[in-house]
Amino acid sequence: MIIVLKSGATETEVADVCQRITAMGYSPHTIRGALRTVIGAVGDDRGKERLRSLESIACVESVTPILKPYKLASREVRQESTEVRVGDVTIGGRSIVVMAGPCSVESRLQLLDSAAAVKAGGARILRGGAFKPRTSPYAFQGLEDEGLKLLAEAKRETGLPIVTEVMEPEKVDLVAEYADILQIGARNVQNFSLLRRVGEIGKPVLLKRGMATTIQEWLLSAEYVLARGNPNVILCERGIRTFEAATRFTLDLNAVPVVKKLSHLPVVVDPSHGTGHWDLVEPMAMAGVAAGADGLIIEVHPKPEEAMSDGPQSLKPERFAALMERVRRIAQAVDRDL
Ligand code: PEP
Ligand code: MN
Repeated sequence: MIIVLKSGATETEVADVCQRITAMGYSPHTIRGALRTVIGAVGDDRGKERLRSLESIACVESVTPILKPYKLASREVRQESTEVRVGDVTIGGRSIVVMAGPCSVESRLQLLDSAAAVKAGGARILRGGAFKPRTSPYAFQGLEDEGLKLLAEAKRETGLPIVTEVMEPEKVDLVAEYADILQIGARNVQNFSLLRRVGEIGKPVLLKRGMATTIQEWLLSAEYVLARGNPNVILCERGIRTFEAATRFTLDLNAVPVVKKLSHLPVVVDPSHGTGHWDLVEPMAMAGVAAGADGLIIEVHPKPEEAMSDGPQSLKPERFAALMERVRRIAQAVDRDL
């Protein structure tokens, strides 16, 4: 249920309503908007009619059901778009935020070269996997702890915040020591114990859409994180499985305006995994921004032909710089900056 408070409700009144919600067995989530405060009361749907009695309290304007199955992720609960802050970078504001770097952290030199190159090109966040979810158990699985240390060094050198994947609940604390944004990969979008665990950490979460996940299922996965008290979720469209075999996945750019309508959470697009081919990354990056994405995540490697994972879809630094120039022009056309 959404409890809308009258404008001018005091902190004491907000606390009182929250206490009553808790006493009825629901979790209150207070969302402060520019004009008024609303409280999302989430919990077992069966007894929700009891919450209607809150309408008799003087500071309460209305109590209405949240119609969508995801609650805190929904625009019904929060009309204003959410902005996620990472250091001095804001994701979901006017500026398009580009995250870039190699698929995997492979060596000190490879990572530091990549980091310097993406920074020079205008990326605001460095990506790089230390724990890699590989289809084959015989493929390179990542440098693990050593990879995290190299990411920390690249951050010290460039000042760029880090986004890196965490694959298991047991590793969340470790990865969170190094990461500024915890990436949940496509293959883990419905790993509910992992989602709950990152929900308990205040750090921003980049939640990739699964390759066979509907938009509703994806938003319900975001709900797991939000419901645990972490409001800093960034959604990432990275392509879905279809019958089409010309590209690695089918980048579902419909998802961008659909999610923007249904949810207040920021959305970024991954044209690297979404296409699987380096020469398709630039046009789909431009299309993603034109469709309304708040950012991009792009794989860049100093020598893609030697990459230990995802070489065919990785851009050379000079191609990345050229992409940024073209994306900048699209951003301007849709009243955004880069
Ligand atoms: C990645 O970002 O390198 C990755 C493994 O992405 P996804 O989970 O989208 O396949
Ligand atoms: Mn990759």
